[in-house]
Amino acid sequence: MSEPLVIVGNGMAAACLVDELTKIALGRYAIAVIGDEPRLAYNRVLLSSVLAGETASHDIELRAASWWRDRGVTLKYGCVATEIDVGRRELKIAGEESIGFSKLVLTTGSSALRLNVPGSDLAGVHTFRDSRDVDILLALAAQKKRVVVVGGGLLGLEAAYGLAKAGSPVTLVHLMDRLMERQLDAPAAALLKMLVERKGIEILLNANTAHIHGESRVEAVELADGRRMEAEAVIFAAGIRPNVALAREAGIAVNRGIVVDDHLQTGTEGVYAIGECAEHRGICYGLVEPAYEQARVLARHLAGDDASYGGSIVATNLKVSGVSVFSAGDFIGADGTESIVLSDVNHGTYKKLVVADGRLTGAVLIGDVGDALWYLELIRSRQPVAPIRAEMMFGRSLAEAA
Ligand SMILES: Cc1cc2nc3c(=O)[nH]c(=O)nc-3n(C[C@H](O)[C@H](O)[C@H](O)COP(=O)(O)OP(=O)(O)OC[C@H]3O[C@@H](n4cnc5c(N)ncnc54)[C@H](O)[C@@H]3O)c2cc1C
Repeated sequence: MSEPLVIVGNGMAAACLVDELTKIALGRYAIAVIGDEPRLAYNRVLLSSVLAGETASHDIELRAASWWRDRGVTLKYGCVATEIDVGRRELKIAGEESIGFSKLVLTTGSSALRLNVPGSDLAGVHTFRDSRDVDILLALAAQKKRVVVVGGGLLGLEAAYGLAKAGSPVTLVHLMDRLMERQLDAPAAALLKMLVERKGIEILLNANTAHIHGESRVEAVELADGRRMEAEAVIFAAGIRPNVALAREAGIAVNRGIVVDDHLQTGTEGVYAIGECAEHRGICYGLVEPAYEQARVLARHLAGDDASYGGSIVATNLKVSGVSVFSAGDFIGADGTESIVLSDVNHGTYKKLVVADGRLTGAVLIGDVGDALWYLELIRSRQPVAPIRAEMMFGRSLAEAA
């Protein structure tokens, strides 16, 4: 008899877990996936491309319905899990019968934060997290609505780019003094700002959103320093919060995320959490690669292997608003490190490599990211770089030929 394994959430981590688990232990578990989004699991990262009109929404599905069927997975989408009864080992689902489990995996992801400012509940205030949000943003862009995007991280930049590309006048406001401050040093962020502004997006830094004005709909956004912008819509892209309510209400230990150990197990026996909802050694990752690494480890653990997760070295390798950006490790350069920098602003290129104790410990690239994965490999492997130091900046082929 297959053991009943229930997965809550039909996002990217869930799809990866089912893929990995059925590759190594097909039939060991009777798997059910309960997800509240009304469609098959899709590649959330590609929502930015859908918004930018570069990919069709139906092309971002991770797996066809037949793929799930072939693996015997019971798929319930458009269904909200409302309660975990840990004692009875049952999951309650809104409007459906409860479902029993022997093992439960929480992959509930995160929700977009809405800033707590006056007017944030007005009609015309939106977020950018799922495909329903994208449909709303595309409708705004089709009507060329004037939009203010709040947040200058990856999501804010992607939202601004997609909306501007589709024809909306866009202003992006960011609280900090530089864009993507968690991934970029000051020169890289300044170059990114210049390249994004060239695409017709207005960017305001040190901009603290204080008030959204309007009778019943958004009419203007006011900053703490008094600056005011007319707007017909506001998109909050100012951070995410892990979805932990289900776990917390079941008495499962929660901090910012659902606390898990190196087996991705929560404080409750047989209940696991992976992806953006999980907190491992104090870290909640907001990127897909750590979610996939956790899914692979958990699949092996559930298959009976001795697998454990020690954390992820986070790298950001993406196109931000049409500009290639890569960042990994210590991208600022801590005390005692050395930085090797190549900067060609007019050409739209910036490269910085951080070296500590003869090893590459961080990198930031804007524009030319062709060698990004090689730099990441060097950072992760902690390989000594002294023999290739002179050529390393110019890429793998030159360094390996030297
Ligand atoms: C627009 C956008 C662009 C991004 N770009 C990048 C990028 O370039 N690179 C990168 O690394 N990461 C990127 N990310 C982040 C990446 O998408 C996430 O890290 C990844 O999706 C996390 O996977 P997950 O399975 O943990 O969460 P999700 O994919 O969010 O899946 C969680 C699912 O659980 C569902 N759920 C929650 N609660 C319940 C419940 N009670 N009952 C049933 N279902 C529930 C949610 O609705 C959701 O469908 C981007 C995110 C967005 C929104």
